[in-house]
Amino acid sequence: MAFWPNVVVATPAHSGVAEGLCYRSELSLAPGTLVRVPLGAREVLGVVWECPDVAPAGLSEARTRDVAGVLEGLPSLNDRWRQLVQFAARYYQRSLGEVALAALPPQLRDLSNVQLARRLKRSAGAPPAPAQGMADGPALSDEQREALAALQTAQAPVLLFGATGSGKTEVYLQATRHALQAHADAQVLVMVPEINLTPQLEARFRERFEPLFGAGALVCLHSGMTPAQRLNGWLAAHTGQARIVLGTRMAVLASLPGLRLIVVDEEHDPSYKSQEGARYSARDLAVYRAKVENDALASQGARCRVVLGSATPSLESWHASEQGRYLRLAMPARIGGGALPRLRLVDMNHQPKGAVLAPPLVAAMAERIARGEQCLVLLNRRGYAPVLACHDCGWKSACPHCSAYRVFHKLDRTLRCHHCGFTERVPRACPDCGNLDIAPVGRGTEQIEEQLAGLLADVKRADGGPARVARMDADSTRHKGSLEAQLATMHSGEVDVLVGTQMIAKGHDFRRITLVAGLHADAGLFASDYRAPERLFALLMQAGGRAGRDAAFMSEQGAASEMWVQTWYPQHPLFDALRRHDYPAFAATQLAERESAGMPPFGHQALLRADARTQQAAQAWLNAAAQAAPGLPHFADVTIYPAVPLTIQRVANVERAQMLVESASRGALQRFLAAWQPTLLACRSLPEAKGLIRFAVDVDPLTV
Ligand code: ADP
Ligand code: ZN
Ligand code: ZN
Repeated sequence: MAFWPNVVVATPAHSGVAEGLCYRSELSLAPGTLVRVPLGAREVLGVVWECPDVAPAGLSEARTRDVAGVLEGLPSLNDRWRQLVQFAARYYQRSLGEVALAALPPQLRDLSNVQLARRLKRSAGAPPAPAQGMADGPALSDEQREALAALQTAQAPVLLFGATGSGKTEVYLQATRHALQAHADAQVLVMVPEINLTPQLEARFRERFEPLFGAGALVCLHSGMTPAQRLNGWLAAHTGQARIVLGTRMAVLASLPGLRLIVVDEEHDPSYKSQEGARYSARDLAVYRAKVENDALASQGARCRVVLGSATPSLESWHASEQGRYLRLAMPARIGGGALPRLRLVDMNHQPKGAVLAPPLVAAMAERIARGEQCLVLLNRRGYAPVLACHDCGWKSACPHCSAYRVFHKLDRTLRCHHCGFTERVPRACPDCGNLDIAPVGRGTEQIEEQLAGLLADVKRADGGPARVARMDADSTRHKGSLEAQLATMHSGEVDVLVGTQMIAKGHDFRRITLVAGLHADAGLFASDYRAPERLFALLMQAGGRAGRDAAFMSEQGAASEMWVQTWYPQHPLFDALRRHDYPAFAATQLAERESAGMPPFGHQALLRADARTQQAAQAWLNAAAQAAPGLPHFADVTIYPAVPLTIQRVANVERAQMLVESASRGALQRFLAAWQPTLLACRSLPEAKGLIRFAVDVDPLTV
């Protein structure tokens, strides 16, 4: 007797293999079994999706290859996991194999059964008995207690709308403890936008739970791990050894058989949406995943809860909570009763000509430093200046491979393209006319750091020492450990002013920052991207949220915390809402605009993206696909816009174009996109599309 398992393998994107491949097996293999199968000349990892005992119609039995082996000792991937993967593949228009295999650690393929057994044995053994009577964390505030109680009984996804410093993390910690203690096999998934940016969070989880559940109780899953670390983390989660998985967006697809709670911290963060491969939203998949778990748990009277937390929720989640699809729990007050920072707008129209930092802002910073307080200066642009230019002939530091300028980095005297990485030493003179006087235009974090060091040179700290300015951005944190080291100098008070990109605005719990300044915010006010205001508002609120977090310190200091914003448009309505810390009002105006324009979350979008040797080929392929669309199911329910080049049209000599597809109905858009796939593949071979390199469908894109 033979079986004919359908096995999903990592099919390259757009190979046209939407579902699994058929193999032969002597044994009946349970769905979810991990196997090795031959594929071409290689042997690859696969997941059994189903295993009928009759050969599918039309199969050539003689040409069907045998399953090479089963990964022994590994429990199979359960139905809920497979349902999640299937949904993700369908919804984001990718192949099952691509999504399934991307969710598995690549090293699994290379392990022999002996090696696997050794690994499993090492991680096995009864989990350490919970230590009793361990510290439970601080007594909760009333708001925290109410939120936690509501969360425990919630029947819908929860949106935890908590001000910066309201103690959301403490709610996650206690919800985690309750979930883990309720059931011996329970597991909790905690997702964060970028683990490395917030080492404090991991430390808080370890400190709280390792004494209770043992050192192996918490594992991390993120793309910065070595293949071996990823394998171990994944195995621990899959076998139930790990009770808590702390991870980035990829962790949403981890195998977690005992899942009872999912936390999505800073749920508004764009990094939850992946920008390559299967372009899924981990936040949205988290909500779906909880639903799948709940359908299965219903009969046991148990639930898997999902919490999305933010001080500035995404408009999608906010809208869902307005409609009652999500349960909104508000924690407006800061722990200790501290105030949110007061907004100080600096009208740049009234500042000395050419001033990069307004004198009143510099004076305010000097005062803060003298009192032993710290400042944060946010500028979302790294390097010294975005462009280097010759004022004689008009030469600019364009990247030869991209339609973008190379950024001037003064510290190592390079011109670096932030899109393709192309780097050269700064020329001594203008490459076109020989003029020696080439100059930076605009500013980046390096320049602000340099200027501030000069402007604050005479300022003395409370301890009499000179004021110290530091910088934190992708350049300064490139080396392993440097981010932690830089954060440590902030926490210890060694540094008085930290200049940096958006990474300084993330969830850090700094205790002595009392002033935050945002420079160059105006770019976000008038950007063509309709999500730009939402992102700017969130960024400024989050940055401001780093100030005045320690109520006791603030009252000792006797001064209120402040959020300064330099702008040429102080009357802009966005600043009104920001001044009042009024996210609901901001969201209401944004949602009203979106509704009248049929934009998400009221309408639904997908982008068809094409990369090609020439812009013409990219657009020709898109247009051909559009021309072939009439007649497809639900064509009447979608609007297809003309193909356009991307804002940065060429990157690393690849031309990029895209086409927006919109529909008032999510379901109609889904079915249309699925029906369109064969056309998209077929159009690749059209003569006018010659030079097409790749294409992608991006469902619910973040930038259009
Ligand atoms: P959020 O994530 O909402 O910005 P955090 O969870 O980081 O806020 O909490 C802010 C600060 O308040 C942290 O230093 C945290 O340790 C502290 N904190 C949180 N909850 C409590 C509590 N119930 N009692 C005392 N301190 C708390
Ligand atoms: Zn020149
Ligand atoms: Zn480039």
